[in-house]
Order: sequence, then C-alpha cells, then structure tokens
Amino acid sequence: MLVDAGPSGKIVEKLQRRGLSAIDLMVISHHHFDHYGGMDDVINNFEVRNILVTNAPHTTQRLVSLLRLIRDKEIRVLNPGEEGRTLTLGSVEVIVFPRRPTYFGNENNNSIGLRVVHGDVSLLLTGDSEPSLHRWWLQNVSSALYADCSILKVPHHGSKNGLNQEWLQVVNPQLAVISVGSGNRYGHPDSRVVSMLHDAGATLLRTDKDGTVAVESDGKGWRLVDGSKLARGPPVVTTPVESGRTLGVGNLVAAETLPGDAAVEEIIVYVTRTGKKYHTRSCRYGKRSNRPLTLDEARRKYDPCKICKPPQ
Ligand SMILES: [Zn+2]
Ligand SMILES: [Zn+2]
Repeated sequence: MLVDAGPSGKIVEKLQRRGLSAIDLMVISHHHFDHYGGMDDVINNFEVRNILVTNAPHTTQRLVSLLRLIRDKEIRVLNPGEEGRTLTLGSVEVIVFPRRPTYFGNENNNSIGLRVVHGDVSLLLTGDSEPSLHRWWLQNVSSALYADCSILKVPHHGSKNGLNQEWLQVVNPQLAVISVGSGNRYGHPDSRVVSMLHDAGATLLRTDKDGTVAVESDGKGWRLVDGSKLARGPPVVTTPVESGRTLGVGNLVAAETLPGDAAVEEIIVYVTRTGKKYHTRSCRYGKRSNRPLTLDEARRKYDPCKICKPPQ
C-alpha cells in the first residue's frame, strides 16, 4: 500500500529497493500536487492494482493527466464513500473514514482519513486535513476510527492550521511524525503544533531533522527501524490478525478484500425482517431495523428495491 507520492522523483527507486513489483492499493489523499506528483512514475513502473481517490472537484491539468493514465491502465478506482469502507490487505485492515460532503473552500479539507490497523498497532493518515475537517469528524464520525492510534502522520506538514486540539486529544498518538522539507518556505512545522504534540505526550519525529522515518509492526507493538535496513527487503509480518475486527464501527457499508491480483468487492446491502426487497443502507424503506447481508446472499432470496436502486 502506498499513500501519496510527491514529485521529488525518488519514490520509484525507493520502492524498487524494497523489492516490490506491484502495489495492491495506492491512495491519493487529496488533489494537491505535493501528494500525487510522483504517482504517474509509480504507475508506469509498478503494477498498481487499486487506487483510492475522492471525486472532489479541485482539478488541475496535471491531475487530469494522472486520472487519464489511471483510466488507460485500467486500474480499479475506489472512492471513500459517504459511509466509509474497510479494505483488507493481508493481515492489515485499512479503515476509510466516511467522506465529508465536498468542501469547496479548500481542497485540504477533502482529504481522505485512513486508519491502518495491524493487530494492536494503528496508523492514522489524514493527508492535509485542517481543523475544519477534524471538527467535522468529531461531530459526524465514530471516534473509534481515530481514537488512541499508535502513530499519527501529523496532518498538513505541521502547518499552523493543521491540528485541532480537541481532535488531537482523542487521537492521543504515541508517535507523531511530521513530513516536512527542511527550510521550507511555509515555515512548517508551526511551533504551536509542535508544543501541542509535546503536551499530548507524543514522541515527535520530523523528516527535516530526523530523515526518513521507518516503523515496523509485529501486530502487538511497533518500533523504529533504520530506514536503510528496511530498504533491503520487504518487512516480515509475524502476527496475522483475525479477520472481522471492527473497532466498534457500525456504519461501514462496503467491505472489500484486496487479496493481491484478484480484487474482489464484497458489497453489503440491507433487508428488513418481513420485506421481500433488498436496499442500500440509506433507503427510507429499510430504516433502522436493517439486517446487513452480502449482495451475493441478497440476490439469492430478494429483489432489488426500485426506489433506492441497490447494486445488482
Ligand atoms: Zn494539500
Ligand atoms: Zn501537502
């Protein structure tokens, strides 16, 4: 899985040194060049199997060419969806936050929120999310999605408008990593953000001072490793995680498994106790007494609702 790739031109070599030839899931956190500028290189050098991206309207010519490339290579495109989704990659579960309705003011606030879970270890990646989005999550999304994560990639390069205090308290990270260029012209990271993280008790690492940050997880705990050592081969996952772990998230509509080359989508639909039709989660005929089941099961016993038009 690869989340974001900047335009430095180094990403392909870094991934090749890991011995990779394919990427199951690539994520464009939001439509800013510093986050997708290296992805065309990646797509041209690796077999990319799935891409997670929003359909937010912020578009530039460069993004359009990237999207064309994705289409030409026939890479499967996933959207976060209004109700979120979970993607399973081997022993790792990727929880995609429900998508905020498109925010027109600032593309940073359309960033995808991800919690990558490997056993007891979790990593929170939220692109360039700003306090406006953190507040929306606080109000609209189960806090189980972002509470008590092991590692936080600090949103928006530690920018002064990059962190909401109340949200950070819930996130409560053990390790906070700021991805930031040294001597950058924006003055990232902001000293208030640094002290906020310090007050929250997080260990702070920043790429301008500490270089590449590499972390290894065995599903029970995480540890920092030497980035150059990690580069010699793929990491060994020692603790497989039982599937079906949900973190108490009851509102995920689609669950998918991406088992490498054969990507299978498992769609969840809903039925009521007495009805003869199956529905999408939001259909008014399903209401709250909905019983979830997979589309495959539903197709055997029910007909699709004509009002909400669920997948068939
Ligand atoms: Zn941005
Ligand atoms: Zn950025």
